[in-house]
Amino acid sequence: MTGIYIHVPFCLRKCPYCDFYSVLFTEELMQKYTDAVCRNILALKPKAIEADSVYFGGGTPSLLPPEQAEKILECIASSVKLADPEITMEANPSSISLEKLRGYRRAGVNRLSLGVQSLIDDELKALGRLHDAYQAREAAIAAHRAGFENISCDIMLGVPGQTEETLDITAERITALPVKHISAYMLKIEEGTPFDTAQMGALADDDERMCALYLRLCETLAKKGFEHYEISNFALPGARSRHNLKYWRLMPYIGIGPGAHSDFEGKRTACRRELSEFLESKVQKNVLIEENIDRAEELVMLSLRLSDGLSLGELEKLRGREPVRRLKNRAVQLEAQKLVSIEKTAEDEKIKLTERGFLVSNAVIVYLLDC
Ligand code: SF4
Repeated sequence: MTGIYIHVPFCLRKCPYCDFYSVLFTEELMQKYTDAVCRNILALKPKAIEADSVYFGGGTPSLLPPEQAEKILECIASSVKLADPEITMEANPSSISLEKLRGYRRAGVNRLSLGVQSLIDDELKALGRLHDAYQAREAAIAAHRAGFENISCDIMLGVPGQTEETLDITAERITALPVKHISAYMLKIEEGTPFDTAQMGALADDDERMCALYLRLCETLAKKGFEHYEISNFALPGARSRHNLKYWRLMPYIGIGPGAHSDFEGKRTACRRELSEFLESKVQKNVLIEENIDRAEELVMLSLRLSDGLSLGELEKLRGREPVRRLKNRAVQLEAQKLVSIEKTAEDEKIKLTERGFLVSNAVIVYLLDC
């Protein structure tokens, strides 16, 4: 099954750490944008696509009026075969209201991903966010009242001023809300953003602090019953993100909007980051990023991000027996360092990263692949 990603590249203000493609929101631009998205979706019809997830990401998708979200979803329903889809909308606490949330539910959105980041006011100020902790909590409560059963919240790790204790407060407060999924991201300093200073760089490069924060959050969320199912994602039973799992399980997805990526019919492509070009084109122009993708290498890289781990049986089908034997030998060495575990079942053998392994996942993956 395919996933459909709609990029909504508008924000009310640029956050000082963000380098996602987004431009300043105006109602007029959003209206034109909705029309362009619909044109692109209707162009998918002849491909007879079956999809079970739709994801509105951004930017700030919650700037989209509910009627426009509904229009886009109607276009999707008329062009793509939808099978009981998970439909996610990313939302900023500062740009939603109970009425708007009810409108999204009526339009068919059934999962809300709230950009909370922290529930400590000073940390939100340091991040330059438009909301405070009160607004973020009210947003989650309003979403639940509007009928959202499936709510996710983002938490940022490494925020200026954040300590293990303040992170605990954020985690405690979020898990006291009707939230089933949490994504935790480490603050990264992107080149050319206002956060790109020596002082902020030193903060983000403080690996010891980042590791301590990450492990503390893993521990707190485990105690609250959240399964750590992907390096950066935690879910209550049954609440894993269906759409995001497609990226890690090498399933096809189609991205619509400037900057959106697709992995479809064996090709990886991206729509150019040019809003005016997107608005003016009949159908978006995608640039080829990768063809002849090495699926075996990708399987190692992506499935190790998941707590389900890497299936050696699956890898053997793609690579053959000998390379898998060599990779397993390396995994045995890493197991001795408690970075991975190797689990054997009657049908298969799996390599899984431990929580410490998650912290150095890139190095572990490079080591496993270099054999
Ligand atoms: S709201 Fe999100 S996408 Fe927009 S500038 Fe802030 S972090 Fe970036």
